[in-house]
Amino acid sequence: MTLSLPFDNSYARLPSRMFTALAPTPVPAPSLIKVNAGLAALLGLDAAALASPEGVAVLAGNAVAEGSQPLAQVYAGHQFGGWSPQLGDGRAILLGEVVGTDGIRRDIQLKGSGPTPYSRSGDGRAWLGPVLREYVVSEAMHALGIPTTRALAAVLTGDTVYREGPKPGAVLTRVAQSHIRTGTFQYFAARGDVAALTALTDHVIARHYPDADGPLGMVQAAIARQARLIAQWMSVGFIHGVMNTDNSHVAGETIDYGPCAFMEAYFSNMVYSSIDQFGRYAYDKQPDIAVWNMAQLATSVLPIMGDRDAAIDALTQAVHAFPDLFRAEWLSIFRRKIGLASVEDDDEALIGRLLAVMEQGQADFTNTFRALSGPDARDQFLNREAFDVWAADYHDRLARDPQTPAARRAMMDAVNPAFIPRNHRIEQMIGAAVQGDFTLFETLNTLLARPYDDQPEFAAYRNPATATEAVRATFCGT
Ligand code: AMP
Ligand code: MG
Repeated sequence: MTLSLPFDNSYARLPSRMFTALAPTPVPAPSLIKVNAGLAALLGLDAAALASPEGVAVLAGNAVAEGSQPLAQVYAGHQFGGWSPQLGDGRAILLGEVVGTDGIRRDIQLKGSGPTPYSRSGDGRAWLGPVLREYVVSEAMHALGIPTTRALAAVLTGDTVYREGPKPGAVLTRVAQSHIRTGTFQYFAARGDVAALTALTDHVIARHYPDADGPLGMVQAAIARQARLIAQWMSVGFIHGVMNTDNSHVAGETIDYGPCAFMEAYFSNMVYSSIDQFGRYAYDKQPDIAVWNMAQLATSVLPIMGDRDAAIDALTQAVHAFPDLFRAEWLSIFRRKIGLASVEDDDEALIGRLLAVMEQGQADFTNTFRALSGPDARDQFLNREAFDVWAADYHDRLARDPQTPAARRAMMDAVNPAFIPRNHRIEQMIGAAVQGDFTLFETLNTLLARPYDDQPEFAAYRNPATATEAVRATFCGT
């Protein structure tokens, strides 16, 4: 029996040159690692049915569910600033879309499901490590309250994939409000395909920005979401690592968990990605890169905007709005991170000074902010005297902020997570899983589902890596 899912596939109804219809490639011996029961329920799907042999066959790409119209999307993109005119789902297949119990339409996509016409020299596959990394980190991101693609399931394929040696193959089932990227717009703009650009824009407006007025309104709305997203990333020390335009989601979700990392000790220009040689996507460059990406989105809709000079003016203004939008979002979150309900002109400088002292004192980003609502923050710093100088000014500022200590602490603890997916724990989790032990994978999912709760039983997971455990680089070899 084939599983039936309540698909309604709006992308498949777009002009056929916007994708390639094809089914996933079967794998030899699928076995389930995990179904995300909470997400299944949100999508209106039966988790038990997904975990059944018929369900696992669909999640591995060995069967096509009833109602599914499998396809690979085409897109282009600037990768590290260089133009790649032809990218696309090279190892992913969109199974279809479902409308969840919250009324939101979402894509269900397999990642690692075999070659497509967009695979270039790739094998169309994924290995267990990156699949579990994306599962844990994207779900952690969601629990942190940051817009992101999510993970519905992970399966082993029974196949071997070759990366730095033989690795167990796996497939991730990814869920997103769509998989439309800045690079999707760029692909059609580069070809002067006005009809496809118009259809894509209408689709994105209907799906993500129903209140937006035409392409300009869509670009403005996408810019506002991107500004908020990057501020949220920065507020938890997240470095995306590969902010290419094909990884720039038009609805402002975090997408692509390749070489990403959460910082431990705070360094403003921290880079983890082994391929980001010149630090293009360093922690503190992320807002600037988002502007660059949004400029590409804006440029892409120019051909469908009528009077060219007026359109250039309006789109330029929309892009130029980014820095102020970002700064407002950043200040709003960082004010809460240090417990301020009121607004004073010098708050930005006060926050900036804290970050500077943290950087000099190699303070752990997560633990420092979490400790700031208690008595022990100074223990996070190597330069405790410098912290004391800052803290004296901070306490003067708090005295002018009308809040009870309990309310302030609640405000701070709601934006300063106790738990983030620390890189060495992810590495340990992958190492164990390759040996067949998924205990740490389960533990990380459990504790990261409640990142703002203290959960004393998991206290060890709040510790930064020791010198021998530290992960200094993350790899795109996914
Ligand atoms: P990413 O680095 O994951 O953002 O992927 C960039 C481009 O390379 C996209 O078009 C992917 O579909 C493609 N790609 C990445 N890995 C593979 C692979 N193993 N097989 C085929 N295509 C891939
Ligand atoms: Mg990508």
